Amino acid sequence: MSKFWSPFVKNLVPYVPGEQPKLTRLVKLNTNENPYGPSPKALAAMQTELNDNLRLYPDPNSDLLKSAVARYYGVQANQVFLGNGSDEVLAHIFHGLLQHDQPLLFPDISYSFYPVYCGLYGIQFDAVPLDEQFRIDPADYAKPNGGIIFPNPNAPTGCLLALEAVEQILKANPDSVVVVDEAYIDFGGETAIGLVDRYPNLLVTQTLSKSRSLAGLRVGLAVGHPDLIEALERIKNSFNSYPLDRLANVGGAAAFDDREYFDKTCRLVIEHREWVVAQLQAKGFEVLPSAANFIFARHPGHDAAVLAAKLREQGVIVRHFKQERIAQFLRISIGTPEQNQALIDALGEL
Ligand SMILES: *Cc1c(COP(=O)(O)O)cnc(C)c1O
Repeated sequence: MSKFWSPFVKNLVPYVPGEQPKLTRLVKLNTNENPYGPSPKALAAMQTELNDNLRLYPDPNSDLLKSAVARYYGVQANQVFLGNGSDEVLAHIFHGLLQHDQPLLFPDISYSFYPVYCGLYGIQFDAVPLDEQFRIDPADYAKPNGGIIFPNPNAPTGCLLALEAVEQILKANPDSVVVVDEAYIDFGGETAIGLVDRYPNLLVTQTLSKSRSLAGLRVGLAVGHPDLIEALERIKNSFNSYPLDRLANVGGAAAFDDREYFDKTCRLVIEHREWVVAQLQAKGFEVLPSAANFIFARHPGHDAAVLAAKLREQGVIVRHFKQERIAQFLRISIGTPEQNQALIDALGEL
């Protein structure tokens, strides 16, 4: 705190990201990064782009990447918005589309950045409790609101909401923007992007950080009606003309074009998730059904905070949230088979 801070800054409550340890020997299962590297074609495209042209600004509209995304999802380029990670895309969505008189609705257990953006942009919200099995009930979202946002699959639970249920929420809220944050959809769900032409109130966000192994590149996107996209472009062009650099533009496009590598790595993560779930269940853990690249689990006989601390002593880091309803859960990212084995071994030691 300093006398130079504005009252606004004094009152901000920033998001706290998972630890990015400087030690490299840790088994890092705390921030849902992909255990496999990016597509070799994406890496090659970025290497080619490392040249004298870096003295020039990148394409402010990222047309190359926009058309790769549009091609991939079978939509028009003017239905695609891009940003510096989906966190930035979400920030612009909160700022431009979710700031209304009525409160924004999102699940009580959800991505903890949502309330932070509400604080940043002065948006009132109403946290809607998940049911006893930590699922979203669409009926709970049929009430007055100034917008709706939820991750699907949800984070940190990993639970998937069926597409019909997403559609139910869209139908009940024709006058609100409904944002489906699909950061983890490629690990077991079906994207709602197929619905954007029928629902002008639907906005779907995705990221290249998880299923496309490019968390270090910072690329995120939104797909929706051109009117929604235009609102986001207006915010973006009032904030930063070049959120995606030259490497992100070509690397992102090549990653979308390399479907084969994407399919293979997603399949492996899903396969290994099922192995981790079976191993944890054999140790007495209760594991919520996951459609993501992480699992959310609790053990009836062990305190989650203690488990997380002891795992860390053994060189395995997982995520623990202090929030009341989920304080006994651990969120564990799916790693390589070796990393997953290290996790199970470390738990065995305990
Ligand atoms: C990881 C994550 C994001 C942000 O992804 P970036 O593109 O890396 O900013 C957004 N929403 C949820 C639910 C996430 O877990």
